[in-house]
Amino acid sequence: MWIGSHVSFNKNTQLLGSLEEALSYGATTFMFYTGAPQNTMRYAIDKTLTKKAREIMEEKGMDITKVIVHAPYIVNLANRLDEEKFQFSVRFLKEEIKRCEDLGISYLVLHPGSHVKEGVDVGIQNIISGLNLILTDSKVTILLETMAGKGSECGCSFEQISRIIDGVEKKDRIGVCLDTCHLNDAGYDMKDFNHVLDLFDEKVGLSYVHCIHINDSKNPLGSHKDRHENIGYGTIGFDALLAIVYNDRLKDIPKILETPYIDKKAPYKEEIAMLLNKKFNNHLKQGN
Ligand code: FE
Ligand code: FE
Ligand code: ZN
Repeated sequence: MWIGSHVSFNKNTQLLGSLEEALSYGATTFMFYTGAPQNTMRYAIDKTLTKKAREIMEEKGMDITKVIVHAPYIVNLANRLDEEKFQFSVRFLKEEIKRCEDLGISYLVLHPGSHVKEGVDVGIQNIISGLNLILTDSKVTILLETMAGKGSECGCSFEQISRIIDGVEKKDRIGVCLDTCHLNDAGYDMKDFNHVLDLFDEKVGLSYVHCIHINDSKNPLGSHKDRHENIGYGTIGFDALLAIVYNDRLKDIPKILETPYIDKKAPYKEEIAMLLNKKFNNHLKQGN
């Protein structure tokens, strides 16, 4: 199984540091931002560090095509009222694709964007235009993440995801990243996951899915909140998340945890172990 978590990526250790962090959690894959998630300050990719990391990955049987990069939150293709900001997002994502190519990464997860005051139809049109500017000669596939529908987020229903993909010219360079917390908050019942996959298959097509974020949610179905909870401590619950992780229809798809730190400590080692052992650990969080 390809399972891992969000890990850090530092200027001085780069892919090698991210890999070492992932290995310390007992992970078989991982996801990282090429810098801080909340800003667009980025450094050149170091060839020596990349080579070293790739060698260790090969030794360990880790497949680089299952490793995911996440674009920073602040790029927004959905709003074009400030054309300069939109063009900045396009330029940044083109450069991010080059960084992924340098690292040997195949998939870049992107939040489709927030339309702010433009309305969802214009938002989707802007996202399509942006993606068509970005994906011209890309070897990397952009995965649109399914969103919770907080504020004016686009991509919080399968219909919206499908409309975006319909408008993208390079269909072989666009895909989807499901997120269990976001889906729950958007109103898709994770306790009936096979039905959700049927809906997705009908509206979009299961072959577009290349990553799934495994998170519990702090909020009820359809709350449009987007607050992640630790595995088994939220409204989705351990059994439903376990059934998702072991669902045969997503067998080869990388599963990435983005759950919150507990007492300033990453919970990923324990959470990955819980899912691999199929046994809920009720000691992970105090008060339970
Ligand atoms: Fe995300
Ligand atoms: Fe996510
Ligand atoms: Zn989220």
